[in-house]
Amino acid sequence: MRKLIFYFFFFGCIGVLTPGVAAQQYDLVIEGGRAIDPETGLDAVRNIGIRDGKIARISPGKLIAARVIHADGLVVAPGFIDLHQHGQDLASQRVKALDGVTTALELEIGAPDVAQFLRQKEGHSLINYGTSASHVAARASVFGAPLPAGTILPKSGPATNQPAAPEQIEAIEGRLRAELDAGGLAIGMGIQYTPGATRLEVIDMFRLAAERGLPVYTHIRSAGRVEPGSSIEAVSEVIGAAAVTGASLHIVHINSSCLRDSMECLSMVAGARARGLDVTTEAYPYIAGITPINSALFNPGWQEKLGISYSDLVLPDSGEHLTKERFEELHNSSATQWVLVYANTQEIVDQVIPNPLVMIASDGVEGHPRNAGSYARVLAEYVREKGTITLMDAIRKMTLMPAEMLERSTTGARHKGRLQEGCDADIVVFDAATIHDRATFQKPMEPSEGVHYLLVRGTLVVDEGKIVDGVFPGKALLGPGKPGLGIDR
Ligand SMILES: [Zn+2]
Repeated sequence: MRKLIFYFFFFGCIGVLTPGVAAQQYDLVIEGGRAIDPETGLDAVRNIGIRDGKIARISPGKLIAARVIHADGLVVAPGFIDLHQHGQDLASQRVKALDGVTTALELEIGAPDVAQFLRQKEGHSLINYGTSASHVAARASVFGAPLPAGTILPKSGPATNQPAAPEQIEAIEGRLRAELDAGGLAIGMGIQYTPGATRLEVIDMFRLAAERGLPVYTHIRSAGRVEPGSSIEAVSEVIGAAAVTGASLHIVHINSSCLRDSMECLSMVAGARARGLDVTTEAYPYIAGITPINSALFNPGWQEKLGISYSDLVLPDSGEHLTKERFEELHNSSATQWVLVYANTQEIVDQVIPNPLVMIASDGVEGHPRNAGSYARVLAEYVREKGTITLMDAIRKMTLMPAEMLERSTTGARHKGRLQEGCDADIVVFDAATIHDRATFQKPMEPSEGVHYLLVRGTLVVDEGKIVDGVFPGKALLGPGKPGLGIDR
């Protein structure tokens, strides 16, 4: 009996079930699909009854509804949760939906103004959304150089490259507290974009996160092998900050931050976890990154650090490989031009993606195929073609693992990333035999193929492989904020 209670408490989203009523009608039934749930290990043909935005019933028996989706031969899984999505416009949300994503959050850097971000998206979002509070933006404001509207990363300059005085650090903390009060899910720190931030400033931000009981999502200080400033040093810095403050830590895109030392960085994450620290990580399945060329990432020394040169930088629209002259022109411009950075190898990416510690997160932004293709690409390349990840494990990396990470920020995440009765009906129905990405570096917004249906809170967003017009069921995932805000958390 005790074991049963234990099971019920930890598995399943309780509170909305009305068992015992015969021949119930559902709003929608997904019939005959291969239902997969990484938390319970379910992998069997089941019928799924959906009512009021929730999964009301999972059963081998027949369920009745006005709309029945026939899913024979298709996989039915929890919708994918992308912890790292910058493109938050509708065009990006459409390609995310067709890639199987039902929740896409801006956590690496964070929106400069959380309240405004939430206001703009409410009632206008295909999929679920949310954001961290941005250290980069708070710092830029305190230095008197607030980010231009619509941008999340600053141009390299005094505001990114100079250390903050103690009173400036206090002011940054004040701004971050306000952003967390507004519903921020975490503190986002793009440390490489603010190289002037001292080790102490980083620790102070982790302290603030710990004080709020919230995690830090971070793009670490540096990449490459040159010491000082290696990726190993940068991982040590944030693991140290987590250790001394108690804040949970999520290291974003360990593939592109650690490059050739990715497996070493993963062993550091494993070591930290083995010693009781709450450290998690993620990766995207591409060899190139993308970033603003006028950012501090390209401060002097970037070639030595990354082990690349001008011609490894490519403009996404034209495919132009840069020269020294062209680089200088764009780097010194105040206009933000994003550039593809070819700094990794396929071999490294192929080792990182299957690692059991690694969640899939896209770092999606227009101009890079990872925006549209990350999830289908993992399912096609690593599950089907290379066979280095099982379907169950791939789905775990895309659903349960990010949901569990999000539970550090919001109890609402307990209802996500799971195909269980009582959970939110965020569901993807896809063909595991054919799903594939179509986005390329030349055509980065080509949507993936193979997602037949996608539901967000019970509403069909993708129906028979096509985006449904005029529905916006996406809702915010919010941090604990201030009590009494009156928002559905
Ligand atoms: Zn990043």
